[in-house]
Amino acid sequence: MRYYDNVVELVGNTPLVRLRNVTSGISAKVLAKVEYLNPGGSVKDRIALRMVQEAERSGLLQPGGTIVEPTSGNTGVGLALVAQLRGYRCVFVCPDKVSEDKQNVLRAYGAEVVVCPTAVAPEDPRSYYNVSDRLAREIPGAWKPDQYANPANPRSHYETTGPEVWEQTDGRVTHFVAGVGTGGTISGVGHYLKEVSGGAVQIIGADPEGSVYSGGTGRPYLVEGVGEDFWPTTYDKTICDQIVEISDKESFELTRRLAREEGLLVGGSCGMAVAAALKVAREASADAVVVVLLPDGGRGYLSKIFNDDWMARYGFLRTAEETPTVADVL
Ligand code: PMP
Repeated sequence: MRYYDNVVELVGNTPLVRLRNVTSGISAKVLAKVEYLNPGGSVKDRIALRMVQEAERSGLLQPGGTIVEPTSGNTGVGLALVAQLRGYRCVFVCPDKVSEDKQNVLRAYGAEVVVCPTAVAPEDPRSYYNVSDRLAREIPGAWKPDQYANPANPRSHYETTGPEVWEQTDGRVTHFVAGVGTGGTISGVGHYLKEVSGGAVQIIGADPEGSVYSGGTGRPYLVEGVGEDFWPTTYDKTICDQIVEISDKESFELTRRLAREEGLLVGGSCGMAVAAALKVAREASADAVVVVLLPDGGRGYLSKIFNDDWMARYGFLRTAEETPTVADVL
């Protein structure tokens, strides 16, 4: 019989898939690492597993303990999966702007969700930063992973994602492209690939227009999970050979094309990373192998990126009236 003992054993070892259509006119090979095939649906399963293992090893997390983290998305799902298997309680703190669907996903995995007001300053005791700090102090046996400062975040990518990319390409990868949020992915994979290739692999960060990584101040942008208004310690500022800045419009247009033309229903940060990868691949030689990491799936964005009205409202699409429908043609 061939089976996995539990769902956490399915974390990692995601496939590379060649992008065949959005790459027209480009000679270099562009390979996507499809992280939504992780059991929790995103790349964050990898860091959740590694952060919990490390906390168990160091004694910060004891049997029966509680994981407290300010997160509303992918990291929460990863932590909830691992926590369930190992018998920990999970309390996630999120601002009230987070959609009910996202909160319900976390509850579905058995986590408790504490919702805080968005419209208060970070130093306000009701802010989600302060509430999560207080819960981590007051709940006995609580441990806060803190993905923005936890070295196990980049380490998980150094130990798993990086070696996978190298082995899957038989060491022929020439460029690695990923969006930067906590910076864990690009820093961990980047260090591994630089080391194993003797510095030959080019590391390219993709960043939303306005974020600090591409020289901005954190001006609001709509793409989720990437870009920051501060410098997290999980990001190694020396790792990127190049940072490519991508607008929301480009990110979302490519996200939609990945679903329509490549059969990959993925999130907005994937469109952003692919937009950057295509720019890199266009300039690269024909024998270049560009690997781009796609962090999550598109189901969580159906009412935004994949909704024509939402796209039109922000000027990312022609308005619904201008777009011919079947009814107009008949
Ligand atoms: N895309 C999405 C959807 C994410 O949730 C994240 C994590 N914040 C990233 C990209 C960026 O990954 P990292 O935090 O490793 O830089």
